[in-house]
Amino acid sequence: MEYIDAKTIVRKCIPNQDYLSFDYAMDIYRGCSHGCIYCYARCNYYEKTDNFDCIRVKRDALQIIRDELRRKAKTGVVLMGGVSDSYNPKEKELKLTRNALELINAFNFGACIITKSNLVTRDTDIFSDIKEHSPTSVNFSITCSDDETCKKVEPFVSTTKERFEAIEYLSKNGITTGVLMDLVIPFITDTIENVQEMVKKAKYYGANYIYLSTQVTMADVQRDYFLHEAEKHYPGISEKFLQRYKNYYHCWSFNGKKLWNTFVETCEKENMNYDMRAANQRLRSGYNSIQYTLKLY
Ligand code: SF4
Repeated sequence: MEYIDAKTIVRKCIPNQDYLSFDYAMDIYRGCSHGCIYCYARCNYYEKTDNFDCIRVKRDALQIIRDELRRKAKTGVVLMGGVSDSYNPKEKELKLTRNALELINAFNFGACIITKSNLVTRDTDIFSDIKEHSPTSVNFSITCSDDETCKKVEPFVSTTKERFEAIEYLSKNGITTGVLMDLVIPFITDTIENVQEMVKKAKYYGANYIYLSTQVTMADVQRDYFLHEAEKHYPGISEKFLQRYKNYYHCWSFNGKKLWNTFVETCEKENMNYDMRAANQRLRSGYNSIQYTLKLY
């Protein structure tokens, strides 16, 4: 593990009602050791390192976060986990994400987490505290419904089963949870069965909503890494992938329309919410009088 300097950590964002709704974003860590073969954070736009798998920690992160939250004119919801998983293995001992959540709570901000780790359940007590005054959600990025595929494409994260069990635990403790099927991998996870199973499991384990994107994005070193790793488990896939997608950034599944229709049908049959605008409205309702107030300190 290494330390890196950071001038600023909490950045302002434009809320996107069709995805997760947040006003600020922060990442305490850079890099990630979870090894997902498709990870977009590996590309040069986010990382200028050839050692993405080594976790780096922003020096004095908590002091910077505290100063920045204190100086914000308005409170809002803070996203954690957009570029690096905030619940990587180092977090277990360092507890920087937990401490940052305590600051979020102390300064009356809300929290929106994206993770692939069940370590997030450790912080259920703080999520409950934040929820008292601000919108709070824990979102699990899950791309395949079975552990066998998961082990091939996301080798070092909590398994699919463990992530769904974490959703169950958080939901039973009153925390809003979501499933982000935020990509499909052409030739691997873009199947009707996978989409159907994902929706059914999201419902069964108590998620409040599920999101689907029917593409994966690929850029520079990220593509090279993906093709190299995928070939180990799916011989011949790199040639098929390159033939179809060349060096495209957006790699839409050729099954995309069918997948989307199946997704909608299954969600409606299972009474599972897939309308992110509605989910965001529900999450924020009741908090408006507290959120967006001018801070006087
Ligand atoms: S957990 Fe997220 S950040 Fe980490 S390797 Fe997987 S996709 Fe990338």
